[in-house]
Amino acid sequence: MAQDHTGDAGRPAPGPSHFIATRIREDLESGRFGGVVHTRFPPEPNGYLHIGHAKSICLNFGLAEEFGGLCNLRLDDTNPSKEEQVYIDAILEDVRWLGFDWGERLYYASDYFEQLYAWAEQLVEQGMAYVDDLSAEEIRAHRGTLTAPGIPSPHRDRPVAENLELFRRMRAGEFPDGSRVLRAKIDMASGNVNLRDPVLYRILRATHHRTGDAWCIYPMYDFAHGQSDSLEGITHSICTLEFEDHRPLYDWFCRNLGIFHPRQIEFARLNLTYTVMSKRKLLQLVQEGAVDGWDDPRMPTLSGLRRRGFTPEAIRDFCNRIGVAKKDSTVDLALLEHCLREDLNRRALRRTAVLRPLKVVIENYPEGQVEALEAVNNPEDPAAGTRTVPFSRELYIEHDDFLEDPPKKFFRLGPGREVRLRFAYFIQCRKVVKDPSGQVVELRCTYDPETLGGSAPDGRKVKATLHWVSAAHAVSAQVRLYDRLLSVPDPAAEAGDADWKTYLNPDSLEVLEGCRLEPALAGAAPGEPIQFERLGYFAADPDGTPERPVFNRAVTLRDAWAKIAGKGPGGM
Ligand code: ATP
Ligand code: MG
Repeated sequence: MAQDHTGDAGRPAPGPSHFIATRIREDLESGRFGGVVHTRFPPEPNGYLHIGHAKSICLNFGLAEEFGGLCNLRLDDTNPSKEEQVYIDAILEDVRWLGFDWGERLYYASDYFEQLYAWAEQLVEQGMAYVDDLSAEEIRAHRGTLTAPGIPSPHRDRPVAENLELFRRMRAGEFPDGSRVLRAKIDMASGNVNLRDPVLYRILRATHHRTGDAWCIYPMYDFAHGQSDSLEGITHSICTLEFEDHRPLYDWFCRNLGIFHPRQIEFARLNLTYTVMSKRKLLQLVQEGAVDGWDDPRMPTLSGLRRRGFTPEAIRDFCNRIGVAKKDSTVDLALLEHCLREDLNRRALRRTAVLRPLKVVIENYPEGQVEALEAVNNPEDPAAGTRTVPFSRELYIEHDDFLEDPPKKFFRLGPGREVRLRFAYFIQCRKVVKDPSGQVVELRCTYDPETLGGSAPDGRKVKATLHWVSAAHAVSAQVRLYDRLLSVPDPAAEAGDADWKTYLNPDSLEVLEGCRLEPALAGAAPGEPIQFERLGYFAADPDGTPERPVFNRAVTLRDAWAKIAGKGPGGM
């Protein structure tokens, strides 16, 4: 590896090789780009990055790393009306958080506006572009269909000098918005609709977040993207499949401008079950208040996943495992969660939290006595050591660990039953206290002082181990439990694309107040992975304070993927 882009030694090994790596290897062998590999990740700053973008980020930065090349970060900011600085800031933060470093190579397509304009004039001078006075609607109507050729515009054969003059006047602001466009003169009968004289420039009076009001004409995506790649010396321009039909245009511009010609390679975008993955739809959720913002832990955005408790390691591992293919498919959300569990099982500190507390009073335990009991921080990682947890006469256990009339298979606490308290003693339930409505509000128990360490000297067994916290020492917290954002795997397939919101899961968020945490959790920082024993993996939310922490559940401990993985790679 010629270059370490991350400074992160903990990175999992690169994923299995795929067809893009194979093509790059071919180019290296043939010397097509002089042995250079240079990629880029080119987000449009019109929303936050999501898990689909992570696939592209890992692919582009990963290939550069694998082949000792470089990867640029380029903000593709050619559309002034939808782009904002907050999105740019979030994009930079998210790419960095994923563990990638673009070094000095942060670029903006808008920095190339002057050069792009010059290239547009060059095409005009070569007789390869013309100013069209048709309206957007007329142009669309003239475009033809997949089976019928397009109809040439009456302005298609304007002389070069007239085109040049009109284009310069477009730039000078002499014409109203939408009144004229610059089009490439390619082939109105082409089988590829993208080649039917595509629009290169439109008139649009909008303030651009970087160029302000310097321009009133803006280049279209297709006219900006390939040329930006070319200017940056990108060798392999990797994009998603919907751009396959744009490749002939990409190549046409590079060829006819006579500029450095990158190789465009398309791959299948990531789709995830139970997840919407388009910025337009995610923006809708934010604007309509269906979620609490782009970083709502239910969102598939990187900032949402981060807030929820996902780690960059888990996301990179996921991107490696799903691989890169040429055919569209949908990945099971359970695989993403599985990758998180695997990572956190290795690294997360184990802590105790009681989400729905039920008070337990140990009648034979001395009032005022407190013992500091030793508890293991992570059984998977001996280096994580131990901590002490306070034990006292009044505790909380999980309400659903007790049943007054337990069925056969329920081995936890019930009247007269004995269970083990994790890291502590056996307790036996002697009496059930109820409120006037008949709700169980407290258990009176006794403990066996001989059972510290988890077993009884007389050899008697218990069938369950419960977690608990000491009532006097517990920290009260809010805990947010999340479920999938959508209630069906593929809402578009069920409802048609327009009605996808009918399938928003109404139970995607459950907020629990008055949860009781062991004292060590008061200082947990967001981003610090923690397992609440028996309950799942959690992360502190920035909404919390040391006095009143807030935790998000990232995933439960139940691994749905491990179960379905048996069905083989088709499930991916
Ligand atoms: P969206 O469809 O969510 O609006 P986009 O493609 O318009 O996304 P861009 O900001 O243009 O968003 O994307 C930046 C890069 O990320 C592009 O190269 C794009 O191909 C890639 N990308 C976007 N979505 C996915 C996805 N789901 N899987 C893989 N790559 C993606
Ligand atoms: Mg795009």
